[in-house]
Amino acid sequence: MNFVVIGGDAAGMSAASRAKRNNPDLNVTVLEKTMDVSYSACGMPYNIADPGREIEELVVRQAHVFREKQDINLLTGHCVESVDPVGRIVSGTSLQGKAFDVNYDKLLIATGASPIIPDLEGFDHPEVFALKSLDDGRKLKAYIQSHNVKKVVIIGMGYIALEMCEALRARSIDVDMVKPRPVFLPWMEKELADVVKNEAETHQIKLYLGHTIEKIDVENKRLKVICSDLVLEADMVLVAIGIKPNNELAIQASLDLGVKNAIAVNKKLQTSNENIYAAGDCCDAYHVVTGEKAWIPLALRANRAGWAAADNVCGKSVELPGIAGTAVFKVFDLEVARTGLTVDEASHFGFDPVKVMIKARSRAHAHPGASVIHVQMVGDRRTGRLLGAQMLGKEGVAHRINAPAVALHNRMTVEDYCQTDLAYAPPFGPTWDPTLTAANQLLKKI
Ligand SMILES: Cc1cc2nc3c(=O)[nH]c(=O)nc-3n(C[C@H](O)[C@H](O)[C@H](O)COP(=O)(O)OP(=O)(O)OC[C@H]3O[C@@H](n4cnc5c(N)ncnc54)[C@H](O)[C@@H]3O)c2cc1C
Repeated sequence: MNFVVIGGDAAGMSAASRAKRNNPDLNVTVLEKTMDVSYSACGMPYNIADPGREIEELVVRQAHVFREKQDINLLTGHCVESVDPVGRIVSGTSLQGKAFDVNYDKLLIATGASPIIPDLEGFDHPEVFALKSLDDGRKLKAYIQSHNVKKVVIIGMGYIALEMCEALRARSIDVDMVKPRPVFLPWMEKELADVVKNEAETHQIKLYLGHTIEKIDVENKRLKVICSDLVLEADMVLVAIGIKPNNELAIQASLDLGVKNAIAVNKKLQTSNENIYAAGDCCDAYHVVTGEKAWIPLALRANRAGWAAADNVCGKSVELPGIAGTAVFKVFDLEVARTGLTVDEASHFGFDPVKVMIKARSRAHAHPGASVIHVQMVGDRRTGRLLGAQMLGKEGVAHRINAPAVALHNRMTVEDYCQTDLAYAPPFGPTWDPTLTAANQLLKKI
């Protein structure tokens, strides 16, 4: 049987490796349009922060290892341009300009997502960058290395933008951030978002909210980001306003699309054509709290979906329950995390949300060095279910969010959560874990 995978990063290479492990006799071909496979995009901001590290360190497994040790027919520099679901053939062109056709019995689309670049004047200047692929990171880092970059304007204020503002400050580069919407981290409770905003500003990041970007001009090698009521000068611009799923092949093959135009898949990762699977950033997933489809493009679910698609291709029957939208990122000295639904999302999905906001300590009462952990928790008044949590602090946040995340997967009530036996020792938190304190308070309100 021929199993063909389009896309050679997190979802695609996880699927190819898993399929070969499951069934060493399977013919597995991976078609990757770039020359890079299996790398950690998530590590790019931290790598860019450090001029002493090679960007190539982010490659998790080299292409030759997949070819020689795992017997995977990995074809880099092969861009797939069309899928014929009737003849079961994918076609495209190699970087050398040669046309190719590959037959499949089962196909996995793992084409990821692309950065959104506004269709405005000046966004095609060579000093305007996006950060999605390893090659984006390679070019951006090389540019900083070889040019005297003193000032960067970042368009966007999402998690990648915030990770990058820290990376650039680590290289003593001044950073302005600008975006059209007036609200900083709109998904976050304002009280918490203000803490993150303050953290960025404390590190000399200038934040310009509510400015519509009109174009980018270049004058004497200096860029000018022109907004309706503001001009920001820079040596380099980073566009980080979000990503969109790479769904072109699915559209061309008449597959159904789902949320945010991501490729629609069932819990087995099958698209609307039973022989074509999709995994990772290009497709949607079920949300474990709402039971509805969601598009939350993150790394773990891409890897896991790759495994599940491969298992199903190999004849095991695997269904993924879904995602809780658990995410964490770092901004300077702050850890910022969330899982599940915000109050607005909970209302949108028909829940009757109740929330609490508490502050706790990151270490026990008499233990030195404690800092504040902010916890916001959301529950449903009607069913008592826990619906979501947000958290931030200087320590003890990133992994603490995993407890409410597991509770969401198990559809626990707030009352159930209050009874969980969470770990305690003075260096790691108070006797009552901050999430338990929040849950106890929330229970009183439900
Ligand atoms: C800067 C940055 C930081 C991040 N940090 C985090 C984090 O901290 N935590 C987290 O969970 N997630 C993070 N992510 C997101 C995470 O990297 C993605 O969710 C993950 O890489 C998705 O994997 P994927 O395989 O679906 O897609 P991708 O990694 O995008 O891979 C898709 C592959 O398909 C190839 N391809 C596309 N079209 C074709 C075609 N037509 N023919 C052949 N090949 C094709 C592409 O070249 C690419 O190699 C981060 C992403 C970035 C950019």
